[in-house]
Amino acid sequence: MAAQLLEGSPVAEAVLADAQARVETMKARGVTPGLGTILVGEDGPSAGYVRKKHETCDRIGIASFHHEVPVDGGQEALLAAVREFNDNPGVDGYIIQHPVPDGFDFGEALALMDPAKDADGLHPTSLGKLVLQEKGPVPCTPAGIQAMLNHYGVTTAGKNLVVVGRGPTLGRPMALLMSNRGAGADAAVTVVHSRVPNLADYTRRADILIGAVGIPNFIQPDMVKPGAVVVSGGITWEGKKLLPDVDESVGEVASWITPRLGGVGPTTVALLLKNTVDAAESRAAL
Ligand code: NAP
Repeated sequence: MAAQLLEGSPVAEAVLADAQARVETMKARGVTPGLGTILVGEDGPSAGYVRKKHETCDRIGIASFHHEVPVDGGQEALLAAVREFNDNPGVDGYIIQHPVPDGFDFGEALALMDPAKDADGLHPTSLGKLVLQEKGPVPCTPAGIQAMLNHYGVTTAGKNLVVVGRGPTLGRPMALLMSNRGAGADAAVTVVHSRVPNLADYTRRADILIGAVGIPNFIQPDMVKPGAVVVSGGITWEGKKLLPDVDESVGEVASWITPRLGGVGPTTVALLLKNTVDAAESRAAL
């Protein structure tokens, strides 16, 4: 493989070290930040993600809280968990782990969330702030990808950045974030999706190409400009195997590529904890 690897762990560790220092400062003033998670059902990958989030909280001194909503509990049980976290003074930020099983309305639950406690940056108020380029929690996976590009010294200003996918958790906020003004952004962004014919005509122009699709090996070498930086944000679980949007052979064409394991995932968790610390500092008015 010719490309260098965009390993997520060093990026995540840098973000977590900063968050941990801020947690210690808050604790010295008697404030312990808290993160809540709501998990609906027992879907394997989601339960694993939630576990990882709690383990990382423990490691850097954030208190963690959890609600498990049974699949047969219905939407009302999910809304009750949201209300409890809205009212719980120990919880500075929380997430509803998504996707939720069929029969649950994620959008309704999200809309009920106190926007000041939106740790995932997915509440409409947070997304509105992203559009307006105002301070607020940024969705964790896009923010993690931006942190990764920054960590590895990838210039984004003025670069041709193509996002494949326009979903609400990844593609859409990714495009907004990278087209915003400021350091680590300022890119010339194009968004492509399932209704775009001849997709490769767009992706081959990208200096930075971001997969946000959720189809294994969707991005192939002939879709990539030689020397491009290629990030797989989209992932698919096939049983216990994690498959990225970007085919491994793209590594022969790209200058940088995310590895199959340990790419964007660790940065997503780190940015979630950073958002929680931000929320705790705001609430404590530190
Ligand atoms: P989503 O809402 O399902 O969006 C998928 C997007 O892919 C849609 O915009 C869709 O286009 C596009 N697409 C589907 N088939 C396509 C095709 N053949 N050609 C071009 N575009 C196509 O998903 P999401 O919630 O944004 O998440 C996207 C991916 O990110 C998922 O794989 C998810 O697992 C992953 N993700 C990863 C992390 C992480 O920590 N790494 C976190 C969050 C999400 P249309 O809009 O036209 O349908």
